[in-house]
Amino acid sequence: MAKKVSRIGVLTSGGDSPGMNAAIRAVVRTGIYNGLEVYGIMRGYQGLIEDDIYKMEGRSVANIIQRGGTILKTARCKIFHTAEGRRKAYEILQRRGIDGLVIIGGDGSFRGAVEFSKEFDIPCIGIAGTIDKDIAGTDFTIGFDTAVNTAVEAIDKIRDTADAHDRLFIIEVMGRDAGYIALHSGIATGAENILIPEQKTDIEDVIASLQEKERRKKLVNLIVVAEGDEFGGANEVAKAVKERLPQTETRVCILGHIQRGGAPTCLDRLIASRMGYHAVESLIEGRHNVFVGIQNNKMNYVPLDKVHKKKSTISDEWMKIVKILAS
Ligand code: ADP
Repeated sequence: MAKKVSRIGVLTSGGDSPGMNAAIRAVVRTGIYNGLEVYGIMRGYQGLIEDDIYKMEGRSVANIIQRGGTILKTARCKIFHTAEGRRKAYEILQRRGIDGLVIIGGDGSFRGAVEFSKEFDIPCIGIAGTIDKDIAGTDFTIGFDTAVNTAVEAIDKIRDTADAHDRLFIIEVMGRDAGYIALHSGIATGAENILIPEQKTDIEDVIASLQEKERRKKLVNLIVVAEGDEFGGANEVAKAVKERLPQTETRVCILGHIQRGGAPTCLDRLIASRMGYHAVESLIEGRHNVFVGIQNNKMNYVPLDKVHKKKSTISDEWMKIVKILAS
């Protein structure tokens, strides 16, 4: 029989992602609805260790569902990597009587929760908040949809100016070592080439496709590059293009942190609300040390110690579609 929880803490950790606030709101209000006390822990594991914790009420999360970032702030915390740091965190939770934790973050934050729950009897529930969508066991992670829509909006604008000047634009998008943002935004904006870490980048192939398009007088070209592509980022690709095609007018645009910010999309608000609700239900029902994912529109609870990075399996069919539609 799992221990009953009565006082829970919620924190956001690692890279921020739009929609984290909607998840915090869902955790707080579901907790209160079920008669739990809910505590907000500031700046992830760092605030936990420093006892930067305050009690939240239903009103504490008013007017945040539409806001990017996280009202609890986030941080990367070195001392949580040490047994001593985690013991300190445990002592603080004990002192405050907090007997359950909801951790909103990426796979790194989940690894921290695994270490913590191996050493101490505090149930932890993860909610996947990352724009990279690189966690296996869930079709969605909070923030991906917003990030990819921000990228699409930006690339559409770049296409206008590329078209006006007949230029080649090489656009770098985020995603760390995952290519989802590049793949989705590249397809949705009609990019001629999409370079992602999951597929070997053959730069000669890219050059050949540009030359072929030049022959057909197709002068406006967009190449979308994932920041983690093994060939390098947009600057490296531009350098290679310049060396081989010195006449081609090329511009580089690195979208950067705009992809992390802004109001979350409807989809991100929905999945954050659903995951936040089920995270608290999991704590109450004794489904502990799992992360709450959604697969095939059903909740999927993955043990935190089984969490691994998802390597995207980009079907050859998608790559074929990209080639045909950009011809
Ligand atoms: P994300 O959650 O976005 O992947 P990070 O990888 O930076 O971000 O992880 C966030 C935090 O989680 C780290 O700063 C650290 O405090 C904690 N963490 C990550 N990995 C571990 C680990 N193996 N052991 C303990 N804590 C960890």
